[in-house]
Amino acid sequence: MIHIECTWCDAELVLASLDAPSVHCPDCRVTVEFSPEPEAIALAA
Ligand SMILES: [Zn+2]
Repeated sequence: MIHIECTWCDAELVLASLDAPSVHCPDCRVTVEFSPEPEAIALAA
């Protein structure tokens, strides 16, 4: 489990895994999607 802060309300959010594509904030009722890092993808390829 990875804990991060919501971009908008600073609430603590929990990620199931590091490669989760998005996380939902129940306080803001938004789903935050993470932009894939081109360098990380290049390294994984
Ligand atoms: Zn939030």
